[in-house]
Amino acid sequence: MDKKKVFVVGAGITGLTVAYRLLKSKENFEVVVLESEKQTGGKLKTSPFSGFLLDEGADAFLARAPWAKELFDEIGISEEFVSPHSRSASIWVNGSLEPLPSPNVLGIPLDPHSVPPGLLNSDDVLKISKGGRPSKKLPEEADVAIGDLIRDCVGDSVFELFVDPLLGGINAGIPDEMSCETLAPQLLEAARHEDGLIAGLKETQQNSDPELPVFYTHPNGIGHIVERLAEKISNSIRKNEHVISISRANNQWILKTSTGLEAADALVLATPAQNAARLLETVSPTASSRLSDIEHASVSLVSLAFKNSDINIPKNQSGFLVPRSAGLLMTACSFSGNKWEHLDDKKQTLLRVSSGRVDDQRHETLSDEELVKKLMNDLATTLGLDSQPFESRVNRWPGALAQFKPGHLKRMKETIDLLADEAPGVSIAGSYHFGVGIPASVRSGNEAAVSVIEKFGIN
Ligand SMILES: Cc1cc2nc3c(=O)[nH]c(=O)nc-3n(C[C@H](O)[C@H](O)[C@H](O)COP(=O)(O)OP(=O)(O)OC[C@H]3O[C@@H](n4cnc5c(N)ncnc54)[C@H](O)[C@@H]3O)c2cc1C
Repeated sequence: MDKKKVFVVGAGITGLTVAYRLLKSKENFEVVVLESEKQTGGKLKTSPFSGFLLDEGADAFLARAPWAKELFDEIGISEEFVSPHSRSASIWVNGSLEPLPSPNVLGIPLDPHSVPPGLLNSDDVLKISKGGRPSKKLPEEADVAIGDLIRDCVGDSVFELFVDPLLGGINAGIPDEMSCETLAPQLLEAARHEDGLIAGLKETQQNSDPELPVFYTHPNGIGHIVERLAEKISNSIRKNEHVISISRANNQWILKTSTGLEAADALVLATPAQNAARLLETVSPTASSRLSDIEHASVSLVSLAFKNSDINIPKNQSGFLVPRSAGLLMTACSFSGNKWEHLDDKKQTLLRVSSGRVDDQRHETLSDEELVKKLMNDLATTLGLDSQPFESRVNRWPGALAQFKPGHLKRMKETIDLLADEAPGVSIAGSYHFGVGIPASVRSGNEAAVSVIEKFGIN
């Protein structure tokens, strides 16, 4: 029997996962990954900065979500991972940095007494003490906005002070409009506990190992992890080859690429949603327009290096978050050397400062020089910083972070079903499906590989 030929478009973490899974399956597929850029890894990039290997975007992945860790265990790299040596972050509130309550889950304090008096509304303190029951029974299996759930269970002040900056910062979005089922299913599950959200979160926490790291990374940077994955399947990867369009002819999928034409039995588009939408325009217009409808936020990440003698940052803190109500340009600042031992040479201090939310794109209108200057002003406000960095770097991420509205997972399932009808043999995967992080991207890649195996496998 002929080998089935599968083309994977995109060699970010999602596409590499798809290809790795297909090649490791019992099936006898011929797999080719086509990547526009001269290197693999997509958004996961690490490059030299001030004598360190510093990530340009993502700097770690969540340990709790299984998909990425499982894949990295399989390729034999997990033993080399490190976890942050400082876990505590602060929040910029009322003109000072307040530590996030401990213990907390996604910013929600499990003990109201861990929050300094006066920060939370007294009704909300009472709601936490009473367990955080929702005002009405949550419908089974239905999605809700994170804002609606948290405001209802534990009050506006908890949401605005802690949850909005944390989840809004990670996703560059508006948690009042974010799908809880996609981005924080553990909150939805906990809120269904008979005694309320806080009771549910406490129960989960009691059953989890407090020593387990929250994040992992590699001392050579997150980019090194994808390089190692790419090495495992290097014979199947073709770089510098952009896929321009796809069409159907003679029962096969025809790819027009920057170097010629290719024919495939199956295709997996592991690109950002907008790129997949463009490729699907003629072969599956409905799926294409649904992917185009997914809103994306742009973010910028500025890395700054200071001499230790010129800067004084809070010890034992990994960084701080800035709520949207503060009106600053920055959304968060990470103290890289406090967070990661391998980024602390005892001589210099590295800061990574983020800006950009889906409803605040001021950073995009600024030149690199202006952006650094404005963020330095914000650091003067928040940290009292009056010195200049001796090195700086700006990394721009236009349209990089998908936004997940309530009902997102249901819409994605419908889109995938539509695609299967309109363009059988074409699958999609990426960080716009199950969430924005690395584990969610790997999960999406796993599922796309399974769909190819189910349709074309014979074993
Ligand atoms: C600033 C920032 C910080 C982040 N921080 C974290 C973090 O700390 N932890 C975390 O877990 N996640 C983080 N993320 C998210 C994470 O980086 C992404 O979810 C993940 O890297 C997405 O991988 P992907 O493979 O789906 O997409 P991409 O990395 O975008 O890969 C897609 C690939 O497809 C290629 N491509 C596109 N179109 C074509 C075409 N037509 N032909 C051929 N090739 C094509 C592209 O060149 C690219 O290489 C962050 C993201 C950003 C922007």
